[in-house]
Amino acid sequence: MGPPGAGKGTQAKAVADHFSVPAVSTGDIFRANVSGGTPLGVEAKRYMDAGEYVPDEVTNNMVRSRIAEPDAAGGFLLDGYPRTLAQVAELDGMLKAGEHDLDAVLVLTVDQEAVVARLLKRAEIEGRADDTEDVIRRRLEVYAEETEPLIAVYDERGIVVRVDGMGEIDEVQQRIFAALDDLQD
Ligand code: ADP
Repeated sequence: MGPPGAGKGTQAKAVADHFSVPAVSTGDIFRANVSGGTPLGVEAKRYMDAGEYVPDEVTNNMVRSRIAEPDAAGGFLLDGYPRTLAQVAELDGMLKAGEHDLDAVLVLTVDQEAVVARLLKRAEIEGRADDTEDVIRRRLEVYAEETEPLIAVYDERGIVVRVDGMGEIDEVQQRIFAALDDLQD
């Protein structure tokens, strides 16, 4: 978890490789559907371009079917999900049904102005439709309102691992591995 621009996607791939599990990134799946012009993509695009969350039901169904695929049977890393309290409840049900447990909730902590700068830079490079300044501000607001409260929920369960997300990609990656390896000891 972490605000937009925290580096979740980049680090998610590294962590998933490290543990040999698939990274399930809701943002990536939505974007693939948008590019492919699927009905899911058409629906998701309206929300994404405005910096709003895609409705829970759509997102939950998508994650449910993705983690039921054979490559996720031995575990998986979720990137960008859950993002609302309703998604937390839904995920709890899915995990129970699949006899999975949440091992850890990794939170990348970053400085707000730094993430805006990162996102604006990414906008220049990748041209993502949701990386304009207004939409970035809206995404940060939605994150603070809808998603940040989830950290307290997982804190109560004692599974939150906080890692400083500022610095070079490699540095952050080393911190994440160290924190997660500590957990396994
Ligand atoms: P970022 O973390 O930089 O905002 P993502 O790629 O994770 O980027 O997500 C991009 C967009 O996809 C979000 O702004 C939202 O519209 C949609 N999205 C991704 N995950 C979810 C989710 N769990 N629930 C609702 N919408 C989501």
